[in-house]
Amino acid sequence: MTLDRLSPGSGLQAFPPPEKWDDWREYDPKQWPRRVEKRYMLVPTICFNCEAACGLLAYVDKDALRVRKFEGNPLHPASRGRNCAKGPATINQIHDPERILHPLRREGRRGEGRWRRASWDEVLDEIGGRIRAAFREGRRNEVMYHVGRPGHERTMDRILKAWGIDGHNSHTNVCSASARLGYALWSGYDRPSPDHAHARFILLLSSHLEAGHYFNPHAQRIVEGKLAGAKLAVMDPRLSNTASVADYWLPTYPGSEAAVLLAMAKVILDEGRADLAYLERWTNWRHYMADRHPGGELRFDSFLSELKDHYREFTPELAEAESGVPREKIVEVARLIGAARGAFASHVWRGSASGNLGGWQVSRALQLLTVLTASVGTPGGTSPHGWNKYKPVFWEEPPGQKQWNDLLFPKEWPLSHYEMSFLLPHFLKEGRGRLDVYFTRVYNPVWTNPDGLAWVEVLKDEALVGLHAALTPTWNETAVFADYVLPMGMAGERHDIQSQETQDGRWVSFRQPVLRAARERMGESFRFTYEANPGEVWEEDEFWIELSWHIDPDGALGIRRWFESPYRTGQKLTVADYYRWIFENAVPGLPAAAAAQGLAPLDYMRRHGAFLVATDVHGLQESPVAVPAGAARDRATGLVTAAGKAIGVEIDGKVVAGWPTPSRRLELFSPTMKEWGWPEEALPGYIRSHVHRSALDAAKGEMVLIPTFRLPTLIHTRSGNAKYLNEISHRNPVWIHTTDAGRLGLRTGDLVRVTTEIGYFVNRAWVTEAIAPGVVACSHHMGRWRLHEGEGSRWAAARVSLQETPEGGWLMRQLDGLGPFASADPDSRRIWWSDGGVHQNLTFAVHPDPVSGMHCWHQKVVVARARTPDRYGDVFVDTRRSMEVYREWLGKTRPGPGPGGLRRPLWLDRPLRPAEEMFLIKQGGAASRPPDPPRAPAK
Ligand code: SF4
Repeated sequence: MTLDRLSPGSGLQAFPPPEKWDDWREYDPKQWPRRVEKRYMLVPTICFNCEAACGLLAYVDKDALRVRKFEGNPLHPASRGRNCAKGPATINQIHDPERILHPLRREGRRGEGRWRRASWDEVLDEIGGRIRAAFREGRRNEVMYHVGRPGHERTMDRILKAWGIDGHNSHTNVCSASARLGYALWSGYDRPSPDHAHARFILLLSSHLEAGHYFNPHAQRIVEGKLAGAKLAVMDPRLSNTASVADYWLPTYPGSEAAVLLAMAKVILDEGRADLAYLERWTNWRHYMADRHPGGELRFDSFLSELKDHYREFTPELAEAESGVPREKIVEVARLIGAARGAFASHVWRGSASGNLGGWQVSRALQLLTVLTASVGTPGGTSPHGWNKYKPVFWEEPPGQKQWNDLLFPKEWPLSHYEMSFLLPHFLKEGRGRLDVYFTRVYNPVWTNPDGLAWVEVLKDEALVGLHAALTPTWNETAVFADYVLPMGMAGERHDIQSQETQDGRWVSFRQPVLRAARERMGESFRFTYEANPGEVWEEDEFWIELSWHIDPDGALGIRRWFESPYRTGQKLTVADYYRWIFENAVPGLPAAAAAQGLAPLDYMRRHGAFLVATDVHGLQESPVAVPAGAARDRATGLVTAAGKAIGVEIDGKVVAGWPTPSRRLELFSPTMKEWGWPEEALPGYIRSHVHRSALDAAKGEMVLIPTFRLPTLIHTRSGNAKYLNEISHRNPVWIHTTDAGRLGLRTGDLVRVTTEIGYFVNRAWVTEAIAPGVVACSHHMGRWRLHEGEGSRWAAARVSLQETPEGGWLMRQLDGLGPFASADPDSRRIWWSDGGVHQNLTFAVHPDPVSGMHCWHQKVVVARARTPDRYGDVFVDTRRSMEVYREWLGKTRPGPGPGGLRRPLWLDRPLRPAEEMFLIKQGGAASRPPDPPRAPAK
């Protein structure tokens, strides 16, 4: 017998050819050495284990109607058939014997660990009725949806706008708020899209080859770029796997990165390596000069001289003193970046931007290098994400909500990017509001966020949170404190559209419930996806449609109409309707490509899983703009406005689109920063971090803890139930340099107590030269815990006790480690590892950056040998102290409103954008309060 992958003459095939996906044959590896043939239907879907949205191919056993494995989808334009370890591990997640298979309703007190099985009807009736009552009583902002991993494009925007609530909360401020704000201030786009594959020089702040943003698609293209001759530099205090293969490792002291980047900019400017023609054409230097010299002549040469003068202090010597990186190396890299003119690709997402006070100036300083080298939106350069990311539109868009929720966008952070999500418990404790219905969805703030015990205190308080529904694919530390635990699908168990800016090009991909898709291809039909999924695991799309009909059963609230079919008037929307309409009407080129194969667009996506919408997307800022009658042109700056809004910029006699900023140029100078109270930060700059050396008390032995680095094999909460991944990675020791270990008398494996400003955790030391002296690091992926049997994954989570101490603190102690257990999966008896790591985030106070709102993750800590009665895994936290630290950081803010009584600049985006009048403090007319005068710079 010959099988498809081993056909004589065709050689070993990397991927099954798509024409054979309906009936693919392979030998069953478990039967080896017997040659037992298996027949599969191969169904494409998208990985849900990180944000990259790589393609997967599910192997559905046609006899057992069971998914046997996931491999890569060769038709996916970004991942091209390749995955990291987490992609194929999806099979563990869907077959995990400990997964939640049915809706659960709390019995007893919240967090007590007593549950009963509920029906989906019960869930919809209770939650729908409760939301209906809140809406009828004018309490719309008491309903909140809080998401960790979205995994879709614009879906929840549409749903929550249809509900008319300002209730979208996200995890952005514990993830990427700082980097995003820095990018947004430049161009209006809050993410970079580097074209690594065609770059001449690549600079990464953090470890993108192994664990960074868009990990697998970026890693492939970084390697391609290197093979084509690009040089790679990595800024990271830790010798990551990426740094180890870089041409230049710059082990910058945490928080010093912007100083190094500005020193590089100075080298490029001073040595004549900048593209001055680009700088003159595309930056808003005229606005800078007009601001600094009102009424003066706007001369570019004068601007250039002032710019050089502005950065004169950022010498390589200063950069070396701040970062510890030798000045010669900084100059060498700067010259290579200058020489890469037009093809300099770079990326920062978390890392230094998310770790430090003022981290938003890191991405701003990095983008300065991109602008100086004219590498914005070029082949081999760094584009704005919006050029390379597909976003769907709908047959009808609900209007912006007439609400503004101060629990999300409070006055203290008018420039936050975005919702002040991790401060929700602190706001609730302060009495700023309450929640009647709170959804957490693929979100685990108790474990993921800083100050998780503040979350526990609030979630246990029914006066503050009336009903908590946790929509989650797995047990997590937050779901334990829910009223309903609602099981939602993994990668191959749900529908979503996803697209990311992973490369030079734009693509769209389709996640689908693979068993439902396979069985429908075989002729079956289903009303709901949970009928085909394991147990009653549902998918959000159908859940939200049903819930919306339960909220507004007769249409009286004006909600139901948004959840009716575009094809069948008055009938309930189905997932097939939803995706059919988008693929037929809103993906350029897809209908024609589908027709060429004799398929409808939806069927094409069901069979291919992805579609390449565009390639070679460059230079869009030069797109011509049709100027409406009555438009105004500013002679000095070229800005073209219509109805008071900037629509383009006139350059060389032509009106072109430019960038979505107030000036339509790249805003090297930010009038927004000046007008909103931060004049000293109007240009890319360097803010000394809260962990700057000068902020550490050497007498106390304070060091910096980097708690943010990822492991390539784990992803936050969801990998907890992937046995392959936990077998590979199950420890997160504290990295400590040999000199520091020598000073403290520590050896690898010794127990250490790491003391933060609100508590401590006890972990083991790992003595290494792969971390800068004075810095310690601990991966944030481990230390999963469970309070009660049946409420967590025993592959990863240690059982703990959690007790309030007489002094008002909390002590968590591991009761036992990991070990074999009996289950339907024989592998659970073979667990050989006993360690699940230590949870450090509980011991971190909140550090909201006063501008971006980002939680500044890095910690000042004291590391010492553990003392009696410390035990491995101990965590102690004082939540009274954590509230004090919150208030200290609150005191750093410069509250709104801003010019014209605005809560937030109109041009800066925000999720779930409300109706424009809601941006004004006073609705129904222009606010009368003039903008506050600029405050004295905080030093
Ligand atoms: S990088 Fe890995 S985890 Fe992320 S989507 Fe791709 S395969 Fe999945």
